[in-house]
Amino acid sequence: MYALDEETNSFEEMLINNNLSVLREEVHILQLNIGKKCNQHCAHCHVDAGPERFESMNRSTMERVLVLLARSPNIHTVDITGGAPELNPNFKYLVKEITALKRQVIDRCNLTVLYELGQEYTASFLAQNKVQIMTSLPCYLKENVNQQRGEGTFNKSITALQMLNRLGYGCKDPDLVLNLVYNPLGAELPPDQTILELEYKNKLKETYGIEFNRLFTITNIPIKRFATSLQREGKLRKYIQMLREHFNPETIHKLMCRDTLSVSWDGRLYDCDFNQALEIPLRDDNNNVWKIEDFRLKDTEVIVGEHCFGCTAGVGSSCGGVLI
Ligand code: SF4
Ligand code: SF4
Repeated sequence: MYALDEETNSFEEMLINNNLSVLREEVHILQLNIGKKCNQHCAHCHVDAGPERFESMNRSTMERVLVLLARSPNIHTVDITGGAPELNPNFKYLVKEITALKRQVIDRCNLTVLYELGQEYTASFLAQNKVQIMTSLPCYLKENVNQQRGEGTFNKSITALQMLNRLGYGCKDPDLVLNLVYNPLGAELPPDQTILELEYKNKLKETYGIEFNRLFTITNIPIKRFATSLQREGKLRKYIQMLREHFNPETIHKLMCRDTLSVSWDGRLYDCDFNQALEIPLRDDNNNVWKIEDFRLKDTEVIVGEHCFGCTAGVGSSCGGVLI
């Protein structure tokens, strides 16, 4: 699978030229990638997830994560991702234990997984535990969603959003937060997040009666499956050049890698989910859950690469939308 060539990495040079560095602050968000198995096989997937993948965080690694989390009051949110995290057989155990530690849980749910065999009660389980749902819907038009996420995905996603609304998500209950994520279909920057959110709210409400809380726009990071498809179309270098030309120094102090720590299915630690996908471990030698005593990292330098131009272009991008 395509990954960026380090020789062409000019992100560090850009930081030096602007007298900037990316240093970690206290960790506030723990992002757990609990497996690469997914019921979908999306064209833009940056973790190369799919039905054929088998990697999955086991119970003992989860138990270790929970011990470390209990010792780390600095962390207020645990963001669970994958793959489709719900397909991990210990997903519900993990959610319940994190909730018992009084931390907010986010489930990055692809919606269609809620209709997989064995997932019949997952939506109500999420509601009972007040888990925030963050889900991808790259367009409110059927053709565009199916193109990026697979045939039949749009209809299932709409039905799932309606079902989540019936449970109180995104509308009636302020504790049941339903956020949508938008990423561009092609090699361009996302449009204005506030304007697009309004457009989504109007279209989804008018056409399908769907409500949600926030829409977050995310820039496609040029790695893995997305980079491979751009390379195939001869657009990869042009896309990276475009990101580089839109470098915005004001995004640096808000980068998500400053206060987020990413843990992989096998317990290794990374600065972010993208570095994890590229297998670029944390600079610290103690870079897995068995070597540390809590999640209090501070002042270590984030390892950056050319892919980081995806987070610093224009108004910036993170797993929680724009940066500025
Ligand atoms: S649903 Fe998410 S994890 Fe699954 S293939 Fe699509 S982008 Fe990847
Ligand atoms: S890809 Fe983004 S979040 Fe990850 S290290 Fe680079 S700038 Fe930070």
